[in-house]
Formats: sequence, structure tokens, C-alpha cells
Amino acid sequence: MRGALVAILSIVLGATSPAAQPASTGVIAPPLSPRNASYTIAARLDPSTHTISASETLVWRNTSKTEATELRFHLYWNAWRNNRSTYMRESGLRGTVRPDADAENTSEADRSRIDVTSIRLTAPFAADLTAAQHFIAPDDDNESDRTVMAVPLPRPIGVGESATIEITWNAHVPRAIDRTGVVGNFYFIAQWFPKIGVLQDAGWNCHQFHASTEFFADYGSYDVSLTVPRGWIVGATGVERDRHDASGNTTVHRYYQDDVHDFAWTTSPDYVERVERFEHPTLPPVTMRLLLQPEHAVQAARHFAATRATLQYYGEWYGAYPYGHLTIVDPAYHSGADGMEYPTLFTAGTRWLAPGGVVTPEDLTVHEAGHQWWYGMVGSNEFEDAWLDEGFNQFSTARAVAAAYAPHYYSRRYFGGFIPYVFGDIVLSREVDDNGWSAYTAVATRDEPSTASYKYFPTSAGGITYAKTALWLNTMERWLGWPLLQRIMSTYFARWRFDHPAPRDFFDTVTAVAGRDLGWFFDQVYRSSNAFDYGIDDLSSVEDGDERRTTVVVRRYGEAIFPIDVRVTFANGEQVTEQWDGRDRWKAYVYTRAAAAESAEADPGRVLLLDVNRTNNSRSLAPRTRQASTKWSTIWLVWLEDCVLSWASLA
Ligand SMILES: [Zn+2]
Repeated sequence: MRGALVAILSIVLGATSPAAQPASTGVIAPPLSPRNASYTIAARLDPSTHTISASETLVWRNTSKTEATELRFHLYWNAWRNNRSTYMRESGLRGTVRPDADAENTSEADRSRIDVTSIRLTAPFAADLTAAQHFIAPDDDNESDRTVMAVPLPRPIGVGESATIEITWNAHVPRAIDRTGVVGNFYFIAQWFPKIGVLQDAGWNCHQFHASTEFFADYGSYDVSLTVPRGWIVGATGVERDRHDASGNTTVHRYYQDDVHDFAWTTSPDYVERVERFEHPTLPPVTMRLLLQPEHAVQAARHFAATRATLQYYGEWYGAYPYGHLTIVDPAYHSGADGMEYPTLFTAGTRWLAPGGVVTPEDLTVHEAGHQWWYGMVGSNEFEDAWLDEGFNQFSTARAVAAAYAPHYYSRRYFGGFIPYVFGDIVLSREVDDNGWSAYTAVATRDEPSTASYKYFPTSAGGITYAKTALWLNTMERWLGWPLLQRIMSTYFARWRFDHPAPRDFFDTVTAVAGRDLGWFFDQVYRSSNAFDYGIDDLSSVEDGDERRTTVVVRRYGEAIFPIDVRVTFANGEQVTEQWDGRDRWKAYVYTRAAAAESAEADPGRVLLLDVNRTNNSRSLAPRTRQASTKWSTIWLVWLEDCVLSWASLA
């Protein structure tokens, strides 16, 4: 998902084709994933009461090396049942992480809940487990949290064995909160069904719903029938296979998709629908279905262009998008549903006024479309290793946006966010702005990325999970070169797509592809919260007989270590570049030359994008460059302010 990092745009308004039936079927053969958690769901939405009544048949296979003595399910909607859930408690930590997470001030009618009314095993043996269900809180022992349901089994389900579980439940749709719920007649329904956790060799991985982390699930096939009011438009994971009218002035929409690990849907009578196709000489075609708010219909081409750019660049860099279709949802204003990823469907988000030269809605569209790779196909654990999807995707988004939308400019919104103003003289850079440098520096030392993500201080997610990862990946690109980093990332993607990689799997891929152990680098950026800060501590040029003696002192102000170049420029134009391993706290370089020194710079090529203080990186004996660095600082100050505001709204 994405908070509000500023984006860009440049856009050519092109004609969009009328709605057409998606060509693909959702069926994938041969299977791409283990498909060990497959759901057949029938759900009925009653807008008059904001309720969903539903049943599901889950076919689950134990792919771990341990037998299952109980089953564990996520019941995410109980996070908004009251203000005692872990989600709500965390949201209140140091100000609300999510400004809309305030159940105390909402009525019962606005809250959500999910109640399992029956749970029965029909294979490999029959058992009614309804009375055995109970809530557990494996992360924090919060007895009031009801987001994880445990169900002991009368006898274990063995390694490799399959089970069929039938569940019925009722749920109340919340007033729009954290990308789920209802506002007016707009519904966005996510994390909504009883969803089995991931059984690993060490046991169940089934975390509670936390305020600042996301989800983790096994792959499977989803066959979902949704009953909604007749005439309402439905968007969902997968492809619509069948549609028929039913009693009570309703219509049943049946969606199907293989090889995904979640299913989300939306319905509203107001959507404007457009369909276009992505085609590419070496990548498979993709039907793009766009569901827009009517007031944004004029921005259809911008959404398609950004999605097309994502399918192209991510496809060329990492690997092909295999599903053949992708649904883009432009959610209702104030629904809080914008900027979120689901398999074969994502929500973007735009405003009525979206000026040229600014990448809104493109940045968000690329980011959420990009999650089809880092989240959708590579199914890392978002509770524990959120940086593996969000950080990789932040890096990839910035890279794709730079490729598709350069230049783009800084903008701000005024009058309650309604009126945008574009600063045409502030061009945003991928390296600093789009990676989120200011967001990182604001929280650089507050959490170690190797900590399980759900244990981060809630407001560290933006700066650490997203920005720090993007900055160190971009640093690797500038240090090792894009051809090598591209091979590393595409190899990692190929090895781990439709699987659940852990951080060590990425590090092992780096070692294998790069042909050397970069463990020391990951010790700095992953296993440490230390900050990088190199600078020129002193620069002097004094008379030494007929010549000038120049002394440069370069210093490591931060705890983290990285090799850097040091460049000294003399008044006659001569330049000397030293390579310093960066390990000691300082190093002095002395030169005796005819000419005096003019300037010295630490990391002049700006390889180390994680350096938290660039203003100390250069020193000059000539006043002109001093002015330049003042100008830089001013731009950064503007940026810092913006990013603090932007990241504050990160979800
Ligand atoms: Zn994201």
C-alpha cells in the first residue's frame, strides 16, 4: 500500500475503448503455486443493514513438516469491533497512526465484526468444530483481541494431508476505515472472510491484525459468488465467470482466480467502467479494467498509462505478469480505500483536479500495480518482513516513474487539499524524493529492519519499511550497477514467485548472483538501526614555501559504515579522487601543490543515498559553492516539510 508520497504526471488524454468482456478466465494451467488454501465462497451483501452473510468451503493442504493439531484463522474485521483490539490500541500509540481509527467515537452501527456461526470439518474426517472455536492473541496476549480464531482438532491433520472445512459467518461492514467498508453506496470489501493462517515447519504463522502491518497467506484458487443489488457494478479479484439475477432484486456475480493468496471486491452503482489492453512484444497481453468515480472519468487515460508503464517496466525488469487481466479501482472520495493492493486488483486514488507535471495519480497507480510483483506473486510475510514487499516496491515505483514520467515536479495542495499548486522550478528526483529520503532521515535510528515489522514503533513504517529499503536498493544500484542489481532482483523473483521467501532468501540470492558475500552491507542496512553520515570535517590550504599545503579531514559522523570516495578540487581545475574504506572515525589527506584547494566532497557521486546529512558532505574555500549548498538546503527544507506531512498520512 502507499500513503501519500507525491507523484507525477504528464499525460496524454487518449480515447478509451468501451467496456469489453475480459478475455482471460482466471484459470491457469499448469498451476503456478502450491494451491494449498483454496476457497469457494458465497456471500450476500445487504446494503440496508450493512451486513454480509456468507459461507465458505476451504480446501487446505498441510504443506509443512509438522502435523496440525489445531487450525488458526484470521478474523480481521474484529479489529474494528471495539477500541480494545490490538489494532486500535496500536493506533492510539503516540497519536493515531490512522486518523480514521477511532472506534470510541463511532457508533455501534459504524463498527465492524465478524462472527463465525459454524465451522465443520468434512474431510479427512467429519467433525463439528463450532463449539471449540476460541480467540487467541499470539503476538501480545491481548485478551480483548478477537482477530485470530483457534480451533483445536479432535485428531491431527498430517503432513501432506488435505482437509475440507465448511464455515458460515455473518459480518457487519464498517463505516469506511483503513481501506475497508462503506461510504454512501460505495463498498470496498477486503480482509473480509475467515482466512486460514500459514502453517510453517515451526507452527502456525497467524498474526493478529496490527495497525501498521499487513497480511500473509497461502496461495490457492478462489471461486466466489457475490450477491449484490441488481444494477450495481462489481469489481473483484479474478474474472467474472457468470452473472445471473436472483430474488430480492439482486444479481449474483461469480468470480474465479487461480494462484492468488487473497480475494477482495467492491461494488457500487456509480462506477464508470473502461477497458483497455496492454500489449508488448515479449510480455503476455493484459486486459486492464478500470472502475472510476464518475467525476474522474476524464482521468481514465492517465490510469491506463501508469498501469501500462508498470506492466512494461516491472515485466521487463523482474518477470512477466501472468494473469491476463488486472482491475484498477478508483475508490470513492473519503472512503479511505485508496492505495491498496490485492491479487489482480488494486485501488489507486486521485483528485478532481490533477494537474500535469505532477504524478498524481500515476505514482500511486504504479505503486499499487507494482505490488502484483512484490506482494502478489512474491508472497513474503508482510507482518514480519514488510520491507520485502513495500521497500522493494517503493524502489521499483521510483525507478518506473523516473523512466516513464521525467521530469515531474513538486506540488502542494491548498484549501483543504482541494487546489493543487505545481512548483515548476522544483524537479523531483528519484534518488532523493521518490525513494523518500526525508521520511527515512526523520526516523533513521528508531527501528532495526530485522525486527518483525509488526513490532516496529507504529510510525516507523514509512521511513524504515518503505524509504530505507528503497534507498539501500538504489544505493546498491549506484554502487554495483543496474545490470547486476537487475539480475539479482529478477533471479530472486524467479526463484521465489508463488512462494514465501524470508530475508535470508534475498541475501542468499545476492551472494549467489553477485558472486560475493555482501553480508557486511546487510549488517549495516538490515540488522542495524545505525545511521550513515559522512562529511568533510575540515579543509584548509596554507602556504608551504612556494607551494600550498592542502589538508582534507573526512569524518564518519554516523555509526554505520560504507566505503566512499573523497574528491578534492584545486583552483587550477585539477581533481583528485581518493577511495576511503570509511571504517575509521576520520581520515586526513594532505597534498602539496602549486594551486590551493577549492573544495572537497565526501561521496561526490552520491552513491550512498542513505547519508542522513548531505549538508556536511562538501566544503569549499570559494564562496560561490557555499551559496549552492545553501540553495540545496532550502530545497530540502521544503521537502522535509512536505514529506513529514505526506508520511504522516501513510497507512
Ligand atoms: Zn505498498
